Amino acid sequence: MRFRDIAGYQSLKKTLVSAVQSGRVPHAQLWLGNEGSPNLTLALAYATFLNCQQPTDDSCGTCPACYKYDRFIHPDLHFVFPTATTKQITKREEAVSAAFLKPWRQFLKQKPYGNLADWANELGAENKQCIIPVQEGRNIIKALSLKSFEASYKVMLIWLPELMNVSAANAILKILEEPPERTVFLLVAQQIEQVLPTILSRTQLIHVRPFTDEELREMLVQHYRVPQQKAVEVVPLANGNLREALSLVETVEHTSAEKFRQWMLNCFKMDIKALIKESEQFGNLDREMQKAFLQYGISILRETLTIQVLGENQARLQAGALNFVRNFSKFINYHNIDLLYQLFSRTIYEIERNANPRMAFMSLSLKVGQILKSQQQAYRTGQNV
Ligand SMILES: [Zn+2]
Repeated sequence: MRFRDIAGYQSLKKTLVSAVQSGRVPHAQLWLGNEGSPNLTLALAYATFLNCQQPTDDSCGTCPACYKYDRFIHPDLHFVFPTATTKQITKREEAVSAAFLKPWRQFLKQKPYGNLADWANELGAENKQCIIPVQEGRNIIKALSLKSFEASYKVMLIWLPELMNVSAANAILKILEEPPERTVFLLVAQQIEQVLPTILSRTQLIHVRPFTDEELREMLVQHYRVPQQKAVEVVPLANGNLREALSLVETVEHTSAEKFRQWMLNCFKMDIKALIKESEQFGNLDREMQKAFLQYGISILRETLTIQVLGENQARLQAGALNFVRNFSKFINYHNIDLLYQLFSRTIYEIERNANPRMAFMSLSLKVGQILKSQQQAYRTGQNV
């Protein structure tokens, strides 16, 4: 990963580069950013830059260090991330990061903007909760006590330190505060309020904001080869979240906004026959597509609220989708939008945990239908707020 692989963030990159060039390398940083932001990728690009043998304003991409960093196989690059037991590794004490480096490298390569559910999927954790277990405290100390093999800096990257067992966190406090020479901790977190204060106080915080729409478009078109037109369509719905944008690209391809519109109409009419048919079709999609379709629904809800609160001139949608949102917004208010959001999120959660997709979709449809209907009645009787 190089800085140029991440669109935008020029001033942050510049600050990082000049700090390294002038020898100011903090020994522990916390890269804080929401899901779909480049917190992990920027940390990786930074680590690559730290160790590149011919750096300019970015890592060179061709030296032996860059080669190994690019494949996440450098012997002085250590990873710790949440894990769970799997079919292959059934003992909790053995299910540690070192045992899962192969799927982890695959994850970094294919889904560097993925979330915990994506990783759990790659790991084969099924429905189990992923955490950073107590053993990792010892493993971190052990890995860092070894002499550096070949790099300028030894790097310990901890993904999602908020999921760290308290004893594991306590075990590393001392080394986090005073690591061996030329050792750098890069903690990559999403929720600062869940990071232990003792960890937080020992790190330098780097806020990684979400992508802007323009950066997101550039990422899609230039780095993911998404056609320009499709990128323009999905970027406004993704709210700066690249993971979401990529999943929307697939949805737009396979299902389209029209399908969503028709579904909402059937929910509203409580057309049971049509809803059963739609549930069947939904159940035939693969799980990622099912989730992406529901995520699309959440994006539409968000955009509907934006239009209500800020007015249509703030809408970021294309004309066709905007027209739908305009009509849809008659059925949406402050009270029911939260309820709808929770229902959609809950269904995504259930599908991630292998719920029967047809049943989950049908149940969601009926609840959505009731909510839309009751809003329409309130609208007619003038109780609308
Ligand atoms: Zn290099």
